Amino acid sequence: MRQSNLKIHSENILPIIKKWLYSDREIFLRELISNASDAIHKLKIINGGANDDYKISITTDAENKTITISDNGIGMTEEEVETYIAQIAFSGAEEFLAQYKEANKEAIIGHFGLGFYSAYMVSKLVDIDTLSYKEGAKPVFWSCDGTSSYSIDAGKRTSRGTDVILHIDEDNLDFLEEWKLRELLNRYTRFFAVPIELNGIALGNGEPLWLKSASNCTDEEYLEFYRNFFPTDPDPIFWIHLNVDYPFKLQGILYFPKLDTNFEPKEKTIQLFCNRVFVSDHCRDILPNYLMILRGAIDSPDLPLNVSRSSLQIDKNVRQLSSYISKKIADRLTGLFRTEKERFLQLWPDIEMVVKLGILNDDKFFEKMKEVLVWKKDNGDWTSISEILEKTPESKVFYSTEDQRGAAIFEAYRAKGIEIMMANNTVDVPLINFLEEKGIAQFQRIDGSLDDCLLDASREAANASSLADFISAALKESEVVVEAKSLSSDSLPGLLVLDEKQRRARDYFTMQKINAAHIIKKKTLVVNTNNKLIQAIERLQESQPEVAAEISKGVYGLALLSQREVEPKDYEQVISKQTQILEKLSSLLVSRE
Ligand code: ADP
Repeated sequence: MRQSNLKIHSENILPIIKKWLYSDREIFLRELISNASDAIHKLKIINGGANDDYKISITTDAENKTITISDNGIGMTEEEVETYIAQIAFSGAEEFLAQYKEANKEAIIGHFGLGFYSAYMVSKLVDIDTLSYKEGAKPVFWSCDGTSSYSIDAGKRTSRGTDVILHIDEDNLDFLEEWKLRELLNRYTRFFAVPIELNGIALGNGEPLWLKSASNCTDEEYLEFYRNFFPTDPDPIFWIHLNVDYPFKLQGILYFPKLDTNFEPKEKTIQLFCNRVFVSDHCRDILPNYLMILRGAIDSPDLPLNVSRSSLQIDKNVRQLSSYISKKIADRLTGLFRTEKERFLQLWPDIEMVVKLGILNDDKFFEKMKEVLVWKKDNGDWTSISEILEKTPESKVFYSTEDQRGAAIFEAYRAKGIEIMMANNTVDVPLINFLEEKGIAQFQRIDGSLDDCLLDASREAANASSLADFISAALKESEVVVEAKSLSSDSLPGLLVLDEKQRRARDYFTMQKINAAHIIKKKTLVVNTNNKLIQAIERLQESQPEVAAEISKGVYGLALLSQREVEPKDYEQVISKQTQILEKLSSLLVSRE
């Protein structure tokens, strides 16, 4: 036997590895089975892909407190053990230590070629018994207790391959429990390319669908694959098959799920693999925020193996991947819009929120997606921005919310044949602001100002301004300005006009559940000189001012109710005020009988 020292100049790295990675102890298993699988893969290449009886076996020995990871891959000669285990593994150690000293705990152990040493997170001693595939090779036994000295001796292996024997330390004996190990292995090796067994029993491992070319995959296969991952969820609404070669290699399938109404993105919905070995399901940074709802699997040898949140963020590949995925999603949806519009519109309620948030947050996504941005019109048909603009030469898009449907002002626009875009989504207000900033269109809420199209200049009343003054005095509402106008629709007594900017600010805050009723300082009540009630006020203001004043208050109350400008808490109050007005009016009339 020969004693030697690990080639490392700085302080001993093993305690650092142990301490540093403590929270993620179980990755030792992933590192070691990846090494075993690499060893088999290398031999397959040397053998020209000949199908030998390749496999990885994991055995536990409760009595001796060991876990052995055994492969029949390429094996190592003594020289190779020296080079690959004792030296190469530490060639990155200096760098690693430098990073560690800068307290960069997010540094990536896999990047430093230290994978094998993660075994020391759970072991007090690690042995390697290995026999190289090379002609005349002799088995080698390497042993190291986690200090910087190791021993090399003759090994016992009689067939090609490597045993890595972990002598589990007292703090980690739980890994010896077969159910726990099985659960871990199932997670890591679900799509493993090499047969793998635990204590003699084979673990199930399937072909990942992402390896198949998209043109050979059927819808049923995609759905099956999804159901495998998310057995209790409804089927997804569409998916994209990723296959990238440049600038990084990546394969995968991402699904757009059927969203539940509360739009809560679930955790752990993207599984990251590296050459079919499960790496992580904490990799939300791979996607832009607005695509966080996507689910599925991504396999890339080019992504860092030890994925942690902030290290992923800084990785250039990850950033490129994120924009690649959003581009693919945009292409898929614009393609669907152009070729299968019916289906696109069917999907819209499920994708609307994501598309709108994407447009607001990502300019490239916006440029691609603006053509597919659609709204429902008041008549139930769909419209896109460009379609609306074609029909309204002055480039103004009238919009409204479902709440206003049926209100007198809504009907007044409809009567004029003006189409109203229904903007009910919670992000419609910021989206409308955004589209205006981008110069795409001008939007006008139907009660945001009194549009000329609602006026009838031919019937303008001469005494409009004195009538307005009378009603204003009758209302005694300091924040309400009254204007009397000749509207083309006679049936509408009065309508409230709310400043568009203040209105949007209020909608925005309301969306965030902030009470913002106070934001709207002034309301304008436009009374219609062509309406019978207003004409009655006009006639009665001299002879029966009390009656005229009560009707004025009634008109204001009706406008508030009709335009949903009453806060829920004030609703009963407004109704009872209307009742009082009617009572007063009737008693005035009765007294005159
Ligand atoms: P990495 O796998 O990132 O190169 P490791 O520390 O995990 O770093 O392994 C160092 C090297 O040791 C590997 O590149 C490989 O050459 C060798 N090695 C590790 N495990 C095995 C094994 N089971 N069979 C053959 N060679 C191995």
